[in-house]
Amino acid sequence: MQAGMVIIGAGECGGRAALALRDLDFEGPVTLVGDEPHLPYERPPLSKEAMTGEAPAIKAIATDALFAERSIRHIHSVRAVAIDRAAHVVQLSDGSSLSYDKLLLATGSVPRQLPMSGLGGRCVYLRTFNDALAIRAHLNAGNRVAIIGGGFIGLELAASARKLGATVAIIEAQPRILMRGVPAEIAEIIHKAHAAEGVTIRTGQGIAAIADDGNEVAITLADGQTIVADLVVIGIGAVPVTALAAEAGLAIDNGIAVDEHLRTADPDVFAAGDCCSFPLAVYGGRRVRLEAWRNAQEQGALAAKNMLGAGEAHAAVPWFWSDQYGLTLQIAGLSDEGKSIVRRDLDDGAFILFHLAKDGRLVAASGVGPGNAVARDIRLAEMLIAKRASPAPEALGSQAVKLKSLLAA
Ligand code: FAD
Ligand code: NAP
Repeated sequence: MQAGMVIIGAGECGGRAALALRDLDFEGPVTLVGDEPHLPYERPPLSKEAMTGEAPAIKAIATDALFAERSIRHIHSVRAVAIDRAAHVVQLSDGSSLSYDKLLLATGSVPRQLPMSGLGGRCVYLRTFNDALAIRAHLNAGNRVAIIGGGFIGLELAASARKLGATVAIIEAQPRILMRGVPAEIAEIIHKAHAAEGVTIRTGQGIAAIADDGNEVAITLADGQTIVADLVVIGIGAVPVTALAAEAGLAIDNGIAVDEHLRTADPDVFAAGDCCSFPLAVYGGRRVRLEAWRNAQEQGALAAKNMLGAGEAHAAVPWFWSDQYGLTLQIAGLSDEGKSIVRRDLDDGAFILFHLAKDGRLVAASGVGPGNAVARDIRLAEMLIAKRASPAPEALGSQAVKLKSLLAA
């Protein structure tokens, strides 16, 4: 009997992969195993609208009825604990096991832990819906929230906490917020937006000590000052979940190492989403790991195709967004590949920075502005990046030149 497809990790990527297998007319068994108690759900709302809504609700990417209709078996609240690759069997934490023909690891990432003593119940991380519920309970008017890490989690959560009337202090070890992957010019706009909302941002600050007495937390900064908070949220990055793969003898290289088809060295085991590193064709095969929503979706769908033998290479351009207050930031491509920057101003104070490589090739575009102001141009820039185009810097910088015309050139 056919063992079928087993997917470990019922998040964005795993959930999309299960549905894609059916979209591709695979008729054998499809089993999706997740250790959370929920249906696969969207994480982006957890720091944004789910935080500020009346009652945080899960935005699921499928219903039980849809899974039943499509004959997808979803096993929840159970962890995969071992893989026997020779026998094609996965052991689960409830003592049961699953046989597979092809296996997809979509185990995602988890928050990087702050390696300090003194952390207690009022020092938390944000990754899951249950984390969001626990944090939401503290975001009341007048409450004091301290956020360690001026990255995406920290800044989005700060905006949500301000909306709910809490006071917010952000502590960032680097000289500025969003140090990695976001140009200084854009980080400055975001910084100013937070400052205007009354958020205190302490950059270039190490933490000397943390003391959580159960009622409040005192954070002593390296410069000797103390910040006292009712809740401390730690957002200092994410690490890929790779232990299961490593114990099964699969190669790890900043994530579960896969090829351009998202396949590990074992032809029957694939990995996709936040947990894997892969060669990115648009950048000459540079190995990267992306922690982004659209990548998890795209790779889930691509892994499903390749589990069915399509042999299709990953060709997408990285893209992600962040919403804070009324501002949206969008980045397409890898900005660290750029050597020079050309700015294009748009209406309403919005602007886009085009990142050009030494040879003139467009390698990334970063934009910021109110609402959807930069969305269309970032989309066009993404197409130019995918085409490996080298548009004239003067044309990129002039609002009078339509990006669409550069695409046609
Ligand atoms: P995950 O979503 O992490 O799912 C992996 C799942 O596998 C988890 O449920 C995990 O518990 C489970 N699992 C792990 N190991 C096992 C095991 N052994 N057995 C069973 N189950 C297991 N990206 C953007 O582009 N824009 C945004 O605005 C944005 N906002 C975000 C806001 C928040 C608060 C967070 C946390 C993330 C945000 N992201 C955003 C990132 C985006 O959500 C992730 O890139 C995406 O969720 C990755 O999907 P994934 O399926 O690879 O991993
Ligand atoms: P992040 O964006 O990598 O930011 C973490 C920040 O914390 C970095 O600036 C980091 O600096 C800093 N930091 C590290 N150690 C520190 C310390 N000891 N003290 C103070 N600051 C420290 O990660 P994140 O914001 O924690 O987000 C976690 C995950 O959620 C990621 O996968 C992220 O992609 C995802 N997420 C994405 C979005 C979005 O795309 N809009 C929104 C929310 C969450 P260094 O650079 O020096 O490490």
